[in-house]
Amino acid sequence: MSWLTRVRERLPFINKRETPDNLWVKCPRCKEMIFAKEYEANLSVCPKCDHHGRIGADERLAQLLDEGFELLPAPEVTEDPLKFKDSKRYTDRLKAARAANPHHDAFTSGFGTIEGKPAVVGVQDFTFMGGSMGMAVGDAFITAAQKALDNKCGFVCVTAAGGARMQEGILSLMQMPRATVMTRRLREAGLPYIVVLADPTTGGVTASYAMLGDIHIAEPGALIGFAGQRVIQETIREQLPEGFQRAEYLHKHGMVDLVVSRQDLKGTLAELLDYLTPAKAA
Ligand SMILES: [Zn+2]
Repeated sequence: MSWLTRVRERLPFINKRETPDNLWVKCPRCKEMIFAKEYEANLSVCPKCDHHGRIGADERLAQLLDEGFELLPAPEVTEDPLKFKDSKRYTDRLKAARAANPHHDAFTSGFGTIEGKPAVVGVQDFTFMGGSMGMAVGDAFITAAQKALDNKCGFVCVTAAGGARMQEGILSLMQMPRATVMTRRLREAGLPYIVVLADPTTGGVTASYAMLGDIHIAEPGALIGFAGQRVIQETIREQLPEGFQRAEYLHKHGMVDLVVSRQDLKGTLAELLDYLTPAKAA
């Protein structure tokens, strides 16, 4: 029992919590306590050290799309096709993830405008089973890309994932070519496909649609890679350079086109969509 609990028991009048837990946010990098409202107003970026916090799909869509956007419905897919069970049933993991998340799976899309430019924005949410790519994510990606094709507008995809959803085995890996086909269709239609790499983007997602954009934007400090650093280090038996697999390192080495701070992201996307989207008449 902590001293605080003991004090609370002896002095019942201070037992009641007067400040809710979510009033303050602790920055994971500099450990500074930030007033939650201030943190939110700063787009979940630490005002002290510029750490870009991980954000959910709703927050991201609201940050990027203009007010009044349409949320695309979640696709229906076969649940738990392999009847997979490790230490827990896959169906139980899904149930727990859905209870903790406002959405049905890890990929949510909206259709609307970005500073007046029509666009579909798809967001992968790391808080939902590590943003892992299974059939639901694959189908949601395809639905979003199709919406862009139907409306002759750009498709912006914000990625964050630990990789493929292992509970769906080969069916999760099949989402890589399926998503790739859609990026080809966008290209054939002359419509821009812009990827925003958020922290962390790894595994099978990096090996497919996260690296097939016309333009790749990364958020500052984002971890982006295929295999983890330890695996690489043990395989090549060499010390990895400072900042390896981080957005700034990848930008310096030509893997990403731009590193854009969250405050400037919406404006940058609007500008790029303006340059790259063909006129309606085309
Ligand atoms: Zn900080």
